[in-house]
Amino acid sequence: MTHNEIPLHKKSIAALSAMLQQGTVTSVALVELFLERIHQLDPQLNSFITVIPEQALQQARAADQRIAAGTSGPLTGIPLAHKDIFCTEGIRTSCASRMLDNFIAPYDATVVNRLHAAGMIVLGKTNMDEFAMGSSNETSFYGPVRNPWDVTRVPGGSSGGSAAAVAAGLVPAATGTDTGGSIRQPAALCGITGLKPTYGRVSRYGMVAFASSLDQGGPLARTAQDVALLLGAMAGFDERDSTSVDRPVENYAQHLSGSVDGLTIGVVNEHFGEGLDSNVAARIESALREYERLGAKIRRISLPHSALSVPAYYVVAPAECSSNLARYDGVRYGYRAEGPSSLEEMYKRSRAEGFGAEVKRRIMIGTYALSAGYYDAYYLKAQKLRRLIGEDFNSAFASVDVIMGPTSPTVSFKLGEKLADPVTMYLSDIFTIAVNLAGLPAISIPAGFVDGLPVGLQIIGNYFDEARLLNVAHQYQQVTDWHEQAPPGFE
Ligand code: GLN
Repeated sequence: MTHNEIPLHKKSIAALSAMLQQGTVTSVALVELFLERIHQLDPQLNSFITVIPEQALQQARAADQRIAAGTSGPLTGIPLAHKDIFCTEGIRTSCASRMLDNFIAPYDATVVNRLHAAGMIVLGKTNMDEFAMGSSNETSFYGPVRNPWDVTRVPGGSSGGSAAAVAAGLVPAATGTDTGGSIRQPAALCGITGLKPTYGRVSRYGMVAFASSLDQGGPLARTAQDVALLLGAMAGFDERDSTSVDRPVENYAQHLSGSVDGLTIGVVNEHFGEGLDSNVAARIESALREYERLGAKIRRISLPHSALSVPAYYVVAPAECSSNLARYDGVRYGYRAEGPSSLEEMYKRSRAEGFGAEVKRRIMIGTYALSAGYYDAYYLKAQKLRRLIGEDFNSAFASVDVIMGPTSPTVSFKLGEKLADPVTMYLSDIFTIAVNLAGLPAISIPAGFVDGLPVGLQIIGNYFDEARLLNVAHQYQQVTDWHEQAPPGFE
């Protein structure tokens, strides 16, 4: 296919932006095209919770004026969707929970603000696991999202709506959040590119909190170049988030021409053990061979505490969630049970009726782990493991530039397959969770297919090494075309 034959909905942000600047397409035309695709195709996927056609067209008209006036940037006029965890002023922010089904935020999240200031056009809010708890997008109050590569399978989670929508060409890019893998794992299972930035690189202000010491927002798009453009606009210090880091934002999109010749890639022994599907392993090995052809060197390393990351996470994350979700009491905002006979019953029933099963499970585990008699045995212990996991990475980065391996142990699984067994579901994030515990950045990029289902390669970097990660990802995408494939039926 020559460049001009690629349909608009499959073009990268970079290509669409060039067309907008040249005047060969308008933002209004792009918004109409993507809204029409959402209308036609999303009933099969359920990737959107809310679509806002009028606002989007109004914004697009304003963007076209800025482009005509010559005051636009590289993201002006490009359509986008936000995970429904980011507060959007005047537009419902549900977090895919009955608890927030009626919640209209009075302000925009910083990420929403910044991408708006960059000129992007919001088409709507994407489906997700309830309060971002899940790996399959099956815990949503609004029903599961389906994977466009096979609609009987899950898109991954919790940013499953964002990943499915981008993969199906319903929108060129979307935001997501990643507490234990929720950007990278759905990106992998849907065959797109997703980046979880260093903790503190992107403001969490206005992002509904799940586990505050782990949560981090980031972009999902088709290519590393597009992700670089988006990160450049999202990242940066925010005085309204005390954990955001005051450090200059690099121009990621302009640092994509570096060679990987001489790059040292760490490959973790523990990532290639039991639980990893052998066909997925073969795809990852072949991606590593490709990097070797480009001049990179492979070094086998060990992250000895890898096996402890899932258990440590499932104490720390529920503990923080039990505290964060205490605010949903039926009093100030959100769901309130009807006709309670007392204040206490109002609290109890509002929470019992407003939260789904997985959220309740996490609140109970977290409350237990933090309770007086068990704090030392569980929470304190988990924090110690967290430190050891971080130190493993610190030693590894003394001798390697990046770490590569599978994003997910398997390709997408069937809807319902893991729902009855939470522990099996939790193991979906076995390769991603340690990165959040350590606060490191990592990207997942498409690296081939197993039986027609996408495989993701995870590349982990040192703190604030996003520019290198994006360049390393981009170099692979220059010599492969996995990221250009579209799911049958959504071409
Ligand atoms: N799947 C993990 C969980 O259920 C991670 C979710 C996330 O990153 N938000 O907690």
